[in-house]
Order: sequence, then structure tokens, then C-alpha cells
Amino acid sequence: MPSPSDALADLPLRDDLVGLQPYGAPQLDVPVLLNVNENTFGVPADVHAAIVAAVAEAATGLNRYPDREFGELRRNLADYLGHGLVPDQLWAANGSNEVMQQLLQAFGGPGRTAIGFPPTYSMYPLLASGTGTRYVTAPRGAAYTMTPGDTAREVRESGANIVFLCSPNNPTGTALDLEVVEAAYEAGEQARAIVIVDEAYGEFTQDGTPSALTLLPGRPRLVVSRTMSKAFALAGARLGYLAAAPEIADPLRLIRLPYHLSAVTQAVANAALTHAGTLLSNVEAIKVQRDRIVRELEALGLSPAPSDANFVFFTGLEDPRRIWEGLLEAGVLIRDVGIPGSLRVTAGTEQETTLFLSTLRDLL
Ligand SMILES: *Cc1c(COP(=O)(O)O)cnc(C)c1O
Repeated sequence: MPSPSDALADLPLRDDLVGLQPYGAPQLDVPVLLNVNENTFGVPADVHAAIVAAVAEAATGLNRYPDREFGELRRNLADYLGHGLVPDQLWAANGSNEVMQQLLQAFGGPGRTAIGFPPTYSMYPLLASGTGTRYVTAPRGAAYTMTPGDTAREVRESGANIVFLCSPNNPTGTALDLEVVEAAYEAGEQARAIVIVDEAYGEFTQDGTPSALTLLPGRPRLVVSRTMSKAFALAGARLGYLAAAPEIADPLRLIRLPYHLSAVTQAVANAALTHAGTLLSNVEAIKVQRDRIVRELEALGLSPAPSDANFVFFTGLEDPRRIWEGLLEAGVLIRDVGIPGSLRVTAGTEQETTLFLSTLRDLL
């Protein structure tokens, strides 16, 4: 009997996919899940009711294909983001991962290059390899910072067609200065590079941290990616979107699958957006816990990175594996992002945060 891996070796898998590992954050059945930066508050009762009603309504028309251009959703997203955006500047897909995959399908692909600045979102190289785009990396400075000068030089020297900037960055949590985004954009002029600013955690930024949405006017190659998975507590609904010049959204129609956003998905997202205020009220409570985690980790002698996100990255651990396992035994799952001496924890409810902090204190 051949082993499954032998059988796989016989299949004609694309050469560039051989040996790659799929995205694999553990999905364990544990009481306190603080490992993938979900919104642990859940969906408020009135929003839940609105979503159920909208899905019931959508279900009466499921014999028909959905609105291919998701016009109502684009209007709602433009209204939500503000900044003078109009529906033609919005595009959505099944999670911002699909949005970024579509950008790579349209603007990357064989013979083209994308650049990322690790440690950053682990999906960028996978999205690149899935679309046959070469992925190159450039280093960050001390404490994982990025400067306009270094970023511009790396973008220019790489000749990249796609630039991934993650702000606030996953896994470190810190937002980029807009000067870094501007420098990357200007440095990409010659290669006509598409600059993607992944703002998956944009709603959690500290007061005074501006969004790259403010840079969109006059920058036709700039794309700001957002998601309803984190602040909106809708990771299970799969709805991500981008804001950019209308010229960006237009060619994405060439590579998207027909009717890629189901009528159910559109109904859920529209219902949630009309209740954005209620959904986002928990964002403030999460930010309080986020800032509390930073303070208390410092008091424990650890080194948390400043966070503009709903999670905290911290270093200074002698044996992160032991800490991770000890927390898991106590029913708290956090994330080992593979950086020596470090772990990452999502800011949850007050009780979840208390359990995390007190267990960590005991383990140390
Ligand atoms: C969670 C996350 C996303 C969101 O992905 P979805 O596909 O929208 O759920 C995107 N980018 C980063 C950096 C993330 O951490």
C-alpha cells in the first residue's frame, strides 16, 4: 500500500506548490479562544435579529443568481467608510483574503513579483504562490519598525509589481506612519506597482492614527483592504472589501468568479452595515482590554509591542512553548507565531483577559 504522501507524489501537482504548507492556525475546542484575533464579544442581539430577518428575506429569492455587482453592498460600504468614497471605488469578496487574491490574479501572476515585510501576515506568500506570483521579502528595522527611506529603497530595488503593507501589522500590532505608505507608493512609480495597505484591524487603531484611506485621492495605484471579520464580529460571514480608484475595481471583474458574493453573504453584510454603530460599540471595550494587556505585561517584566490592533504581540519569554502549553491547559488558546521568545494574544472580553493574565502570571 502506498502511503498518502507517495500517492500525492504521483499526482501532477504544480511544481511551485510541492512542499508548501497550507494556512494552519490550530482550530481547537477550548473555552477561551484568543488565537486568531476574532471579536470574542459575538454579534449583539439586535444585529443578530436584523441578520436573521435579512437572510430569511434573501432565502425567498435563492432560486435566482445574486446581484453580480452587489450594488447595495457597495453603497453601504462607501457610506460606512466615508472619506468621500463613492460605490465605484468599493469592491468586495469572500473575506479580504479573496480580495487580495483577486488583486494578485489581476495585477500579479507569472513573471510578476510581490514584496512583503516580515514578520507580517502569513497569507501573503501563500496568496502569491497560489497565483504564480513571485514573493520576495525585505527586512524591517529595530523593533519591527519600517522607515520611509528603507521601504522606498526596498520597493524600488525589488521592482515589485505588488507591495503588501500591513497596518496595523499582524503579528506585531503596530500601525505604519503614512509617510511609509507614501514612500512605498512613490518608489513603485516606475514599476507601476499596486500598493496594498491591509487595514484588517483599521477600526482598532489608537486615537490619532490615520487610515491610508486619507491618501487615496490622486493615487490610482493605492488600495486599502478592509474586512468585516474583526471589528464587525463577522469572521464566519466571510466579507472583505477594498477601497481604491474605480480603475482598480473594474478589472477585478475579469478574474472574479461569476456571482462570487452569494445572496446570503450580501444580505448578512448589508444588515450588519446598517447596524454598524451597535456592532462597533464593542470595539471600544476591546481597545480597553488591549491597552490593559500591554500595561500588565509590562508590569510582569515582558516587552509588549505598542498595539493599534485587537491583539498584543509580546517578547521576553524564555520558553514560549511552555507558556503556550500552560495557557492551553488552563483553557486559553493564544498564538505562537514562530518568532523566538514571543507570543501573540487577542484582546477578548474582560473575563477572558483576566483569565489570560492571571494564568500567565502563575506560569511565569
Ligand atoms: C484577519 C486578517 C485578515 C482578514 O481576513 P478575512 O479573509 O477578511 O477574514 C486580513 N489581513 C490580516 C493581516 C489579518 O490579520
